Amino acid sequence: MLRLEKLTKTYKTGDQALKSVDLDIPEGQVLALIGPSGAGKSTLIRCINRLVEPTSGQVFLGGTELTHLSAGALRRERRRMGMIFQEYALVERLTVMENVLSGRLGYVGFWRSFLRRFPQPDVDEAFRLLDRVGLLAMADKRADELSGGQRQRVGICRALIQNPAVLLVDEPTASLDPKTSRQIMRLICELCRERGLAAIINIHDVALAQMFVQRVIGLRFGAIEFDGPPKDLTPDV
Ligand code: ADP
Ligand code: ADP
Repeated sequence: MLRLEKLTKTYKTGDQALKSVDLDIPEGQVLALIGPSGAGKSTLIRCINRLVEPTSGQVFLGGTELTHLSAGALRRERRRMGMIFQEYALVERLTVMENVLSGRLGYVGFWRSFLRRFPQPDVDEAFRLLDRVGLLAMADKRADELSGGQRQRVGICRALIQNPAVLLVDEPTASLDPKTSRQIMRLICELCRERGLAAIINIHDVALAQMFVQRVIGLRFGAIEFDGPPKDLTPDV
C-alpha cells in the first residue's frame, strides 16, 4: 500500500534527517514509528505527504509514485492520505460537525466551500463517524469547548471522512494524559482494523506503541535500526 525506496532527506542546514530509508507497509497494517527526538520520524511522515521535499528516493502510494507529481496530481493523492496531528489542527471557531466535514474539502478552498451546502451523504457519514468515536452529542459544540481527547477524536473523524488509503499520524497523544492517550491509540488502531487501513503512527511513547501495534519501526540517526514485533524490542531501543 505504501512503499518507501531509498528515501533520503538532507536539510539545507546539512542535517541528514533520513538516510536511504526502505520501508514497505502492506494494506491494513498499522505500524508505530519510534525513536529518540531528532531521529527523523516527523521528517519521514512529512516526506510522504510532501510537506517536506525528499532530497532523493521514492514514495509509492498504491501504484503511484509521489515524489515527481505535479501540484494538481499531488493534491489528488493527498486526498488519499488521512493526517492526524499532535495539536489536532482544528478550526476553533467552527463546530465539531463542521470540522469533521472540512475533511471532505481538503486544505485548499476550505472556507469558500462552507458557503455551499454539504451533500447529505457526507453529513450522514460525519454523523456515523461521530457516533463511532462517542461524540454524537457534541456535534454542534464549538471545537474550542472540547477537551484534548475529544479534539483528537474530531481530528480522527476528519481524517477518516476523506476515506483515505493510508493514515499518517504524527504524535497523536503527545498533548494528552496517559489514560486519554491509551484511549486514543486504541481508537485509532481499532478504526484502522475495521476499515482495513494502513497507518504509520509516529509515537514517542514506546510502551504505548507496544500495547497496540504488531509492527514497530525504530528510527535512529535517520536510519531504520529495528523492524519487528514489539515483543522483540530490547530496552535500549
Ligand atoms: P523526530 O521527529 O524524530 O524528532 P525530525 O524529523 O523532526 O526528528 O528531525 C530529524 C533531524 O532533522 C533533526 O536533526 C532535526 O534537527 C533536523 N530537522 C528537522 N526539520 C528541519 C528543518 N526544517 N530544517 C533543518 N533541519 C531540520
Ligand atoms: P517535532 O516535534 O515534530 O519533531 P521539532 O520541535 O523537532 O518538531 O521541530 C519543530 C519545527 O521546526 C518543525 O517544523 C521542524 O521541521 C523544524 N525544525 C526542527 N529542527 C530544525 C532545525 N535544526 N533547523 C530548522 N528547523 C528545524
